[in-house]
Amino acid sequence: MSQKNKNSFQYKRVLVTGGGGFIGSSYINSLTNFSPESKILNLDKITYATSEKTLKELNGLKNYSFIKSDLINEENLREIYEDFQPDLVVNFAAESHVDNSIGGPVDFIKSNFVGVLNQLEILRSSPLKNNCLFHQISTDEIFGDLNLSDQSFTEDHPYRPSSPYSSSKASANHLIRAWSRTYNLNHLITNCSNNFGPRQHPEKIIPKIILNSFEGKAIPIYGDGLNIRDWLFVEDHISALLLIQSSDVINDTFNIGGGTEISNLELLETIFNILSEKFNVQNKDLSKEFVKDREGHDRRYSINSSKLKSVLGWNQNSDFKKSLVSTVEWYKNNSEWWKIDPPL
Ligand code: NAD
Repeated sequence: MSQKNKNSFQYKRVLVTGGGGFIGSSYINSLTNFSPESKILNLDKITYATSEKTLKELNGLKNYSFIKSDLINEENLREIYEDFQPDLVVNFAAESHVDNSIGGPVDFIKSNFVGVLNQLEILRSSPLKNNCLFHQISTDEIFGDLNLSDQSFTEDHPYRPSSPYSSSKASANHLIRAWSRTYNLNHLITNCSNNFGPRQHPEKIIPKIILNSFEGKAIPIYGDGLNIRDWLFVEDHISALLLIQSSDVINDTFNIGGGTEISNLELLETIFNILSEKFNVQNKDLSKEFVKDREGHDRRYSINSSKLKSVLGWNQNSDFKKSLVSTVEWYKNNSEWWKIDPPL
């Protein structure tokens, strides 16, 4: 249940899973400033979605350490929990790309579902149970999709996942709520919308548009390009996570949305304009090609963040277009980020 915000981050030993990825690495970077005395352990399996450069950048941080491990390896995971004694676990680790889940769903069930089950089971059978908060980073995709006239997703919207990815994330949320209720584990779940910003893998649409355009390659657009997404700048997402973790709220769920709903085609045109106006990319290099639609493709996501705003006073700091410009700038300056193979 929600309680009053006491506005200070109390956690001294923070286990971040998947901190080698896009959002987890942004979280670690922010947390070291937000709570410099907290010890952070980044546990990551290191998949193709981890950049060597992201890991190197994190390595210089104070009170930070890294361990390579797979959430599937329960024995190893248990040792890590016992050695590190986290008082907060922030579970970012996941297979995160819907397209990959359509081609190979099993890895998604392993990392996103069994990986959560293993952590819940370790907590259930450990003295840590009473002193550790498990924060699951989930997604608006658990709710399925909406028609244009439908109301935005609230936290109570029924789960209707469409893809193997979203079903693995929805199933994990069910486990967490059940383990919390039955075994009194402390948990938080946050469902965020589509994030964008630095260090995101080029398989995702915004980096793909930017990087392809810099190289003069056409951008593949699924179907009619009218699928709508609700875009959230990663720094706004992190500010919401830190606000929630600094409050007294536990055993609760919050939606975190960007409030910018646009179709993939509008997104493409917005980035093309930024590229030509601010980055001198020639019009001949800005092209798209429509490709066969993704199987089961969700039409529209729209997330209602009013609970987070009213209970904890969260507000977005970022302007969508300015954040897109800074993201383009980052990819321009870091075009090699993804060219080095990850240390698999
Ligand atoms: P990402 O793919 O960039 O990073 C995921 C990280 O998790 C990678 O470093 C990978 O190596 C690690 N990982 C994967 N399987 C693992 C395992 N079995 N054991 C240990 N580590 C493992 O993902 P992201 O975009 O940073 O997303 C982070 C979280 O946020 C995910 O849980 C995702 O479902 C959720 N989310 C992301 C978005 C988005 O727009 N990116 C939106 C909503 C929710």
